[in-house]
Amino acid sequence: MDNVFSNNVKNLEISGIRKFFNKVTKVQGAVSLTLGQPDFPVPENIKNAMISAIHQNKTEYTANAGIPELRQEISNFLSGMDINYLLDEIVVTVGGSEALMCAFAAFLNPGDKVLVASPAYPAYESCVKLFGGEVVNYNLNSDFTIDFENLSKLINEENPKLLVVSYPSNPTGATLSQEERDKLFQLLKEKDIYIISDEIYSSLCYENYYSLAQIHELRDRVVLVSGFSKMFSMTGLRIGYLCASKYIMDNIMKVHQYNVSCAASISQWGAYAGLRWSMNDVNNMKIEFEKRKEYVYKRLSEMGMDVTLPKGAFYIFPSISKFSMSSEEFCNRLLYEGKVAVVPGSAFGAGGEGFIRISYSYSLEVLKEGLDRMEKWINDLNKTEPV
Ligand code: PMP
Repeated sequence: MDNVFSNNVKNLEISGIRKFFNKVTKVQGAVSLTLGQPDFPVPENIKNAMISAIHQNKTEYTANAGIPELRQEISNFLSGMDINYLLDEIVVTVGGSEALMCAFAAFLNPGDKVLVASPAYPAYESCVKLFGGEVVNYNLNSDFTIDFENLSKLINEENPKLLVVSYPSNPTGATLSQEERDKLFQLLKEKDIYIISDEIYSSLCYENYYSLAQIHELRDRVVLVSGFSKMFSMTGLRIGYLCASKYIMDNIMKVHQYNVSCAASISQWGAYAGLRWSMNDVNNMKIEFEKRKEYVYKRLSEMGMDVTLPKGAFYIFPSISKFSMSSEEFCNRLLYEGKVAVVPGSAFGAGGEGFIRISYSYSLEVLKEGLDRMEKWINDLNKTEPV
């Protein structure tokens, strides 16, 4: 029976993040710090724009690339970060997820190699496998910056077609510094490699923003993937976008068109209103996330965890190596004994082993309760199993 399915699909794993989230729902009274979903309501302007779009019957197919009004706003928004794409270099997608899928579909032939950091967001590896590509993992340093020696070696030895970079990072919370961006440019400028840059957390960067899409000489080889799930706290409305130079876009559009025709019209009008009138809300959410980041970092440090201060997104990725358990065992025990759910680092690839991912997209009250329980569980553990 199993051989009716595509080998590429059979070889895919269900996301480790979802697997763990599903476990939590079965543990009564457990606090979940697993999901990457902001807990804020959708900004009022977005809600109102969607309601009035329904009343105005804006419910037909839009252009495949999305409504020009939204693409223009995306273009303006990006130019504020020194990233310049014209209207026909932007396609509105069904979340960043569809943008990623379209990008990999457009580039990959079976056997093509793709450089992906380890740890990284799990969808990259799954998309690559779906199209018969081969993932080659590059290493990160202990502070989650790129191990350039390793990356440079892999570029020279493996002949990769694509490089995936993602900043601010899920799961590590690292951002791209100016120095790293420029070093990447030096490494890539003479090479025939295309870059998929997932910047879905760009609005949640607690420092200056740097992107490979800012570099003029690389721009024609960069595919920028982003979206509004996190920025406007509208995960279920499924709006993302992809930017690329025209000759890449022509191929990506073929996939997008046959995949979805267009993103949902009502949600597109919502995102348009968000960019026009809700940037204040985005800023307020960022201020709140920053408070939560400081709180979670302080609490984990006080527990004696070995932890790097995140610079973006809403994840923190402490090391658990001193507990002599795999990340899966640590998270299972923390869930069943301590009643708190966090995601095992191994869900983000081999490089995530020895870490756990805590999402701070939850309220301070929920974070406090989760961290109190975690602290108690670790203290009890230290009494019975000294680390
Ligand atoms: N990229 C990264 C790094 C993510 O964390 C997510 C969502 N968890 C996505 C892309 C996709 O998000 P969406 O499809 O909701 O836009």
